[in-house]
Amino acid sequence: MATRRPFVAGNWKLNLGPAAAAAHARTVRERLAGWDRGTLAVFPTAISIPAVADVLAGSVIGVGIQEIEAKESGAFTGANAGVMARELGSDFALVGHSERRRIWGETDERCAAKLAAAFLAGLLPIYCVGETLEERNAGRVEEIVSGQLQRGLASLAADQIPAVTIAYEPVWAIGTGVNATPDQAQAVHTFIRGWLRKTHGGVAADAIRIQYGGSVTKNNARELLACPDIDGALVGGASLDADSFVAIVHAAEEGP
Ligand code: PEP
Repeated sequence: MATRRPFVAGNWKLNLGPAAAAAHARTVRERLAGWDRGTLAVFPTAISIPAVADVLAGSVIGVGIQEIEAKESGAFTGANAGVMARELGSDFALVGHSERRRIWGETDERCAAKLAAAFLAGLLPIYCVGETLEERNAGRVEEIVSGQLQRGLASLAADQIPAVTIAYEPVWAIGTGVNATPDQAQAVHTFIRGWLRKTHGGVAADAIRIQYGGSVTKNNARELLACPDIDGALVGGASLDADSFVAIVHAAEEGP
């Protein structure tokens, strides 16, 4: 079985303008200097990417964009192109975050186009999937998650699949303070890896990192990240606090 190195990412959402984002990035950079146990990235709001990329240049922390359009240019007012994000210093792109799906009506088909666009731009995507509470209560977790994976990954070539990171983010756990228990999260991560094995083969399934996201804090990170199929975390609120984010990163290195 492949040894997967942890990947911890901070989604800063619509917080921290350029000056505040640069200051936060500087603190996190200092606190994590020399960390070499896996992959780290922060996702500032697009406007703050240049300031953060400047601070983090040459560090162990990569920068990502929270949202890209599937097109490189054209009449798409308000949109950001992957190639432009790359030019600003982004290495990663989030695709299919539940806030994008719920507030902006993002579909799996549009996610598929954005995943392809991310690769075309030279960005490594994190593809977010997860069920609502209603769907969980109706016993539909596997149906929902496998549908999102099936449709979302449909546009990618076989050699791109292992480079995708999947973030399992149950919608009911995002920003609510109610995280999935380690058993609940591990069960879905096992399902996702099994689905990947069936559809994309064992090599891809063993290589792909599956992050857990949803109310991860410094208090619950250790238990969640100790699960064998949880390969890191996508952290929202707690990533805005340097102490919390650094503690979560250190919890990840203890690994399964
Ligand atoms: C997120 O935005 O991806 C997220 C997981 O948020 P939070 O950690 O605040 O629940």
